[in-house]
Amino acid sequence: AARAAGGDRAVVFDAAMERGAEDDRALEQDLRDGLRRGEFLVFYQRQVDLATDLITGVEALVRWPHPVRGFVSPAKFIPIAERTGLIEALGAWVLRQACHDAAGWPEPITVSVNLSAIQLSRGDLVATVFDALTASGLPAERLDLELTESLLMENDGAARDRLDRLRAAGIGLSLDDFGTGFSSLSYLRTFAIDKLKIDQSFVRGLPADRPAAAIIAAVVSLAGNLGLRVNAEGCETAEQLAQLKALGCDEVQGWFHGRPEPSALIVQSLLEQRERAMPAVAEA
Ligand code: C2E
Ligand code: MG
Ligand code: MG
Ligand code: MG
Repeated sequence: AARAAGGDRAVVFDAAMERGAEDDRALEQDLRDGLRRGEFLVFYQRQVDLATDLITGVEALVRWPHPVRGFVSPAKFIPIAERTGLIEALGAWVLRQACHDAAGWPEPITVSVNLSAIQLSRGDLVATVFDALTASGLPAERLDLELTESLLMENDGAARDRLDRLRAAGIGLSLDDFGTGFSSLSYLRTFAIDKLKIDQSFVRGLPADRPAAAIIAAVVSLAGNLGLRVNAEGCETAEQLAQLKALGCDEVQGWFHGRPEPSALIVQSLLEQRERAMPAVAEA
């Protein structure tokens, strides 16, 4: 009986795994079709400078309004795109779209694009990025690329060369989800980085989470000594904002200031921001 029960469990488990694999295969086919049909969108989430309260940049986040499934989370389809190699075409498209949109904005803010390890491992990455800049007319100084620690770990000297060339052209490099990887601080010596993005898991528990606050303080101090900017991700409340400011973060990104939104809404916010900054013209 015990053996039969164990066997049943194994069967249930296999069936669930099988369904998962089937679903992944279906999603992979949908990804291919979606890319061909142009189903993807890029949304932008504002990054607000804490010293000035101004939007100084945005992060580009891919969105997929699937005709049947509805919006599919990038957390679900990006790993499949990476496994199947589709991330190359998708990533290049996101880059081109983000540069194109940013080139049309009324203020010279930066646009930050996530890079996957596969993209960094390809020899044509530098050409792909430069092509996106040239086609859009966006100055290199207004593009940032977001990398993760695991991405840097998986890549070698050739990858570092590529990043060096991009950075030499004026493109900024940010270390995303900082604190969740191996946090082998040696990356900070071997890769030239401009910004650390503290992972939202550290921000979530603020203001009550004292260990998280202590870690953020330590990261801010480390970044200060290395001459890096600090972005805190996932800031949702006024209390969190106040504490992140007190801890010395340079900028925040999170639902408190806004969810990822279409380019047109970023344009509107930038125009409003510019209007506020302009001294009222006295009526003659
Ligand atoms: P990420 O790069 O760390 O992006 C931040 C994620 O946190 C985004 O999720 C964003 O919507 C979410 N977020 C921002 N503020 C808040 C907040 O206050 N509270 C909460 N709970 N969440 C917040 P999203 O858009 O679902 O993307 C998930 C991940 O998918 C990204 O994490 C990134 O790793 C990946 N991804 C998204 N777009 C791309 C892309 O174009 N290329 C690549 N390679 N990866 C992408
Ligand atoms: Mg990111
Ligand atoms: Mg992140
Ligand atoms: Mg991430």
